[in-house]
Amino acid sequence: MTNVSIKTEEVSKTFFALGTINNIRIPGSRNEKAADLAVRRVAEIDDRMSAFKPESDIGRLSGNAGRHSQKLHDDTFRLLQKAVRFSLICGGAFDITIRPLVELWGINKKGSFIPSDAEIREALELVGYQSIQLDEESMNAYLEKPGQCVDLGGIAKGYAADEVRRILIENGVTSALINLGGNVSAVGNRPDGKPWKVGIQNPLAPTGQYLGVLSVTNRTVVTSGCNERFFIKDGVRYHHILDPRTGKPAQSRLLSVTAVCENSADADALTTAMFVLGPEKSLPLLYKADAEAIFIFNNLAVAVTKGLSNDFSLCRQGRAVIL
Ligand code: AMP
Ligand code: MG
Repeated sequence: MTNVSIKTEEVSKTFFALGTINNIRIPGSRNEKAADLAVRRVAEIDDRMSAFKPESDIGRLSGNAGRHSQKLHDDTFRLLQKAVRFSLICGGAFDITIRPLVELWGINKKGSFIPSDAEIREALELVGYQSIQLDEESMNAYLEKPGQCVDLGGIAKGYAADEVRRILIENGVTSALINLGGNVSAVGNRPDGKPWKVGIQNPLAPTGQYLGVLSVTNRTVVTSGCNERFFIKDGVRYHHILDPRTGKPAQSRLLSVTAVCENSADADALTTAMFVLGPEKSLPLLYKADAEAIFIFNNLAVAVTKGLSNDFSLCRQGRAVIL
């Protein structure tokens, strides 16, 4: 489904892909061609990288786990490489072989189902990025254990946002706001020359209620939070970001974490990992990725890294802690 609205001075496309609703806004422009090319590229990424399409690169890679390797498109192969490299850097907090656990929990698909410890242990046997074999020369990938499955849900939207951004810029766009299911990427400034404003969602409030606002120029803003897919049972919140060490939804004192940097795929993987690791262990990762962050804690306290102190403002009275 693609909804197109062309006002005199804005191209805005809203479309469904990557399991979510996406929007590309190019204000002050009639550059529909750029937006169309970008929408098509996102659909292509979805076709190649979806875990739900048996004929996608990822579907075929997982379908042949423990049997034989699979030739992948260049972009899928490179993104797998990036994901595995990042798993190494973050000590496995981010792990794209998480899929058997994702399926077991079925957050938002199985009501308030909580798997048994034995079921979790069994699924955990299949989780481990170390068993992804990648052959650079042939662009073949192989999953060593039968039953293993890859899930790029924690990084693909970021990658797609980078691709949309690249395509818009290559096609002459100088000002745009890309929002792929909450992965935001800003091209330039707003047409009035001021930075784009990105709202930081209050994770405990309905969508659109913000805790703070961030000013951004030419940067990406990506959030991982426990409010995207979850259920509450006996006062405990079970959400969709799983800790590969425990096999359970991550518990790290955070309600959400937002990364701000140049590359959206980096930011996407980073936020998923930071949500698992918690703020203290996240700081070295941020440093390595040259990224800034906003942490929202269980009590709704907000902390931001130093580099954002001038760009972030709280919507309520008070100050965010500067890390
Ligand atoms: P995000 O919203 O970017 O944090 O990504 C969450 C999605 O990534 C989930 O819906 C899963 O599909 C997948 N996922 C969950 N836990 C992890 C993890 N620890 N590492 C990598 N991907 C994960
Ligand atoms: Mg992510």
